Amino acid sequence: MNLRAIIQKIRSNFNHHEELLNQTVLGFLRVLESVREEEVPCDEVYTKIDEYVEREVDKKDAAKLMPLVREHLDLCPECCEEYEDLLDILEKTSKDQK
Ligand SMILES: [Zn+2]
Repeated sequence: MNLRAIIQKIRSNFNHHEELLNQTVLGFLRVLESVREEEVPCDEVYTKIDEYVEREVDKKDAAKLMPLVREHLDLCPECCEEYEDLLDILEKTSKDQK
């Protein structure tokens, strides 16, 4: 999902209906934009990757539980690589235990 495109679409829609562009809508757009700006930094994701991978291997619900980490992994090749390495290691070790 491309949030910027959605915001732009909402904006351009409302440009044709200026009278509807009230404070509620402006506030809504501001929230959407601030969410985008406050993306999780790599440092923070890095500290959560262990937990995320364990969760993913164990219960397969990591993306549901930690959607911000999932989103970051989709966007950031470096963190994604780290995630895949860890996942690989953890899957191997968990198989060895069984
Ligand atoms: Zn990252």
